[in-house]
Amino acid sequence: MEFIALPVSKGDSFILKDDKYNYVVDGGFNESGITAMVKEEIGEQDIEILICTHYDEDHLNGVIGLIKSTIDINEIWLPSIFAGAEGYLDEYSALFDNYESEYEDENDEELLSEIEDFKEEDGISVSTNKRKKTYRMRANLRKVYTKILPRIKKLLEACRQRKGKSTIRWFKYNHWHKEYKVHNYPLIGLNCEEVKVIRPYKSLGALILDLTLINRMGLVFKYERKKFPNVLFCSDSNFVFTGRRKSNKVYLKEKSIVTAPHHGAEENKNVYKKVIGKSLIYVRSDEQTTLRPCKAYKRLRLKYCTICNSSSTHRKVKIKYRSGAWFTMNRPCRC
Ligand SMILES: [Zn+2]
Ligand SMILES: [Zn+2]
Repeated sequence: MEFIALPVSKGDSFILKDDKYNYVVDGGFNESGITAMVKEEIGEQDIEILICTHYDEDHLNGVIGLIKSTIDINEIWLPSIFAGAEGYLDEYSALFDNYESEYEDENDEELLSEIEDFKEEDGISVSTNKRKKTYRMRANLRKVYTKILPRIKKLLEACRQRKGKSTIRWFKYNHWHKEYKVHNYPLIGLNCEEVKVIRPYKSLGALILDLTLINRMGLVFKYERKKFPNVLFCSDSNFVFTGRRKSNKVYLKEKSIVTAPHHGAEENKNVYKKVIGKSLIYVRSDEQTTLRPCKAYKRLRLKYCTICNSSSTHRKVKIKYRSGAWFTMNRPCRC
């Protein structure tokens, strides 16, 4: 078995190769370039499963690149929110294109109050500072119209081109922790399950609310096979799905690999307390920033980065598992 963190300029892209298949989780920020990086690792082999954990461009753009490439991909696993959004994509495509120049803020008022209602129904706390709140929601709306929905549209169009060649599976985010197996695959959803029937969103407001919460809703998968350690793909999740109770944790086998949650961001620091296992190896990718990685990450004993704060170039992290141990030529993280 081999685990590779690709040296993408921004975001995450991971390859897991076992004795049967190649799995790719997310594609990093760049639509171009990713295909060559993946081919360098898998040669002429195909990808058994390509997963996109959520809509953020540093995870999704490269997935579009791979879907458009000539690499054979057996299955593509996507958040069901993408399929739920489909009905709105054509309806609002003129809006995406002209939002900055033509759209009147007043048109948003109704939508904004609708979103607030949904939030209260869902038990999401609504800030009391109304001006700040409205400003934030407006910024969110702009992002949804001009960036997120067009990106999802592009990805779904690329999937359509693959029709008949790749199986698409949709995964619904669950706000609880339960393991869902998908067929006989060794990838288990920890906060998501496959859904066959997609219900379109009742309204644009309901869709936007989910889209603005999606970092939290990034799909988390665990690789589980008897003869290997686990690999936990944390995405940008803050593991809020495990609940507030301290006892609800994710237990991994000794020497399992964990991808650093949200590229090591401070707001995801609780994940390190929720993931339990002996001699875990953390792998972090993303760009170089002064804010990341956080202290909780820096305190970890075994860790590797595609770019440490002390270096200026991205490098691939490649770790091989053989006879019960991991081997790597990479230097440990020096963040
Ligand atoms: Zn990210
Ligand atoms: Zn580092």
